[in-house]
Amino acid sequence: MDSLRRLEEIFGHFPGIGPRQARRFVYYILSKSPSFTRELAQLIEDVKRSTSECDSCHRLFMLKDIPNKICSICSDTSRDQSTLMIVARDSDYETVEKSSVYKGLYFILGGTVPILDQEPDKRIRLQILLEHVSKMNALKEIILSLNATPDGEHTADIAKEALLNIFKNGEIKITLLGRGISTGAELEYVDVDTIKNALKNRG
Ligand SMILES: [Zn+2]
Repeated sequence: MDSLRRLEEIFGHFPGIGPRQARRFVYYILSKSPSFTRELAQLIEDVKRSTSECDSCHRLFMLKDIPNKICSICSDTSRDQSTLMIVARDSDYETVEKSSVYKGLYFILGGTVPILDQEPDKRIRLQILLEHVSKMNALKEIILSLNATPDGEHTADIAKEALLNIFKNGEIKITLLGRGISTGAELEYVDVDTIKNALKNRG
């Protein structure tokens, strides 16, 4: 395979990008100057080298800010240690964090489980989540904040069932992000007011 086709194939694997868009990316890059392509290649390497996955919440963070394995949110003791919000991806937690209404901790599941999938453990960090929550001493509530899509709701069901298995006595409240997020909506694209209302109406 020549490098043009290979690049097209790589872009085609990006989330939400189809073959036609992938081809447009390649031709866009080809239309730019050599200094642009050099900077792009360098930036991709730099950003990969300078980020790390948090050992606690599994979100990606810039290593230059905190030279350790725990991110700034997890190591911030002023945050509410009794609430844990579970989201599918980094882009979802960013949306919630930008709304500045949530002051608890996060856990990034790493994706969602398609409805007919038989092996959720291969798609999401379910076992890691279960180990994580059983070590959180101050935990009182877990908020499942998944997309209002069939896959998102299915993932929330799987996570809820697994969590209820651990917290059989109802010692931890397990809630879902409330109404206001319309069916089919992806958390990443929801506006601040909707996030505020959905948090208020969780249950
Ligand atoms: Zn973290």
